[in-house]
Amino acid sequence: MEQNLGDIAPIFIDGKWEKIKTSEFNEVYNPATEQIISLTPICGKNEVERAVESSSKAFKVWSKFSYAKRAEILFNYRELIKVNKEKIAKIISQENGKTMPEAMGDIQRGFEVVDFACGILHLAKGESLSEIAPNIDSRTNLEPLGICAGISPFNFPAMVPMWMFPIAIACGNTFILKPSEKVPLTVIKITELFQEAGLPDGVLNIVHGGKEVVDSLCTHPKISAISFVGSSHIAKHVYSLAAKHGKRVQAGGAAKNALVVMPDAEPKATMNSIMSAAFGCAGQRCMAGSLLVGVGKNIDSLKETLVDRSNKLVVGDPLKNNSTEMGPVIDANSKDRIFKIIDGLNGTGAKIIRDGREIKNEKGFFVGPTLLDNVDSNQAIFNQEIFGPVLSILNPKDIEETVKVLNKLNYGNGASLFTSSGNTARYFSENIKCGMVGINVGVPAPISVYPFTGWNDSFYGDLHMQGKEGVQFYTRQKVILSRWDNLYEYKSGW
Ligand code: NAD
Repeated sequence: MEQNLGDIAPIFIDGKWEKIKTSEFNEVYNPATEQIISLTPICGKNEVERAVESSSKAFKVWSKFSYAKRAEILFNYRELIKVNKEKIAKIISQENGKTMPEAMGDIQRGFEVVDFACGILHLAKGESLSEIAPNIDSRTNLEPLGICAGISPFNFPAMVPMWMFPIAIACGNTFILKPSEKVPLTVIKITELFQEAGLPDGVLNIVHGGKEVVDSLCTHPKISAISFVGSSHIAKHVYSLAAKHGKRVQAGGAAKNALVVMPDAEPKATMNSIMSAAFGCAGQRCMAGSLLVGVGKNIDSLKETLVDRSNKLVVGDPLKNNSTEMGPVIDANSKDRIFKIIDGLNGTGAKIIRDGREIKNEKGFFVGPTLLDNVDSNQAIFNQEIFGPVLSILNPKDIEETVKVLNKLNYGNGASLFTSSGNTARYFSENIKCGMVGINVGVPAPISVYPFTGWNDSFYGDLHMQGKEGVQFYTRQKVILSRWDNLYEYKSGW
């Protein structure tokens, strides 16, 4: 393909935007039209080295900025994001395929992390204790780590990078971000705004690429911490590689989340939540509901309504039609992969009761809402993240059996229960083995003051992103013991 430099996504090093000349690019699509809208340059070690050099220089200055001065820049940034939310959402929709309300939600969640980072002072202050021994006082300082790096996935082009860099930077670190090569344009926009807010050169650097860049970040001796979000096998690779090279790592992975519907659940509100959790963002959320667990005997009416609602779902190009309820999946590979999974269900016991392969759009990577009945925990699909608009249906007899079955899942992001019973809700919350639980909430993704607490194969590391754990991840403690008494008061010179 003829390369036009105007289309190349720039890198951002030391406060300068730069279109690098490389022979390797990733095509960035508008997934609703299949039109190529940009090219992501696949950077190498050289760009990582330059980013590290810039971050290292900036750290010496940025780490000495007072919290108040850092907060002033973050407040400016907060304001700029607020004013530009719709513009950012359009970029998200264009490169990722989300509907505008979904894209607005994506940037809103990122905005909330900046909001949180503006007030980080309260969490970044240490503790003190006087007289731990005669005339000896003790206090802790939370100090920045140095250079931190973040690697993000395609599905939340704004929110996931913003789980990382605003908190790291507010704590006094410098940051190198490698966004997904499939959606580089949102990160470019939110970085431009941070620069406009007054962020000094080198505090945030952006490089693009894939494995070579990621591995260079994970092994670079001057980088102290790695935040990763993506699929589980890469999360595991990043976790072990970076940890082996002495870094702190937090690595979010894939998921399989259940929506459990009790016979006493309110039907209408519950169905709205199921539709949104299963088919919102075309099922490409790490908190998407992909297992529908209809408990007991009401399952038939649940399935009927679900098929009916799925048939009526408006699937299409979000930027062409305002009433679009579900956009495309990210690319042709993803669409083919999902189609192949559905093709392969023959003979497994699962039954397709609504087939998303029968979709008639001429252009665009569309998959229609798909419903699979008769799924059980022995089928491969039970534990497999499809990352598309595919909902598998299970029918256990009661809540005890439900919990037992769901606790066989390898992943552990979220699970939601729909019920009118406090008793059932309590049993479920206490016994389900995953990090985020929803009671009458379909997508229990925590707001910025709480950590995003994936368990099992959905997370590798100790401290999660966001909230207090986010601050702990990006700082290290120093304990200072001071003794002030007559014994150490020296009256004349040496
Ligand atoms: P992905 O794993 O393909 O890519 C994630 C990042 O890793 C990208 O920046 C990519 O360039 C990089 N990468 C790709 N191949 C690599 C390799 N071989 N070595 C090193 N780095 C590599 O994920 P994706 O398809 O962009 O995103 C979807 C996945 O992310 C889903 O599994 C989803 O569940 C997960 N996700 C998890 C969370 C969470 O909080 N747990 C949140 C959002 C998305």
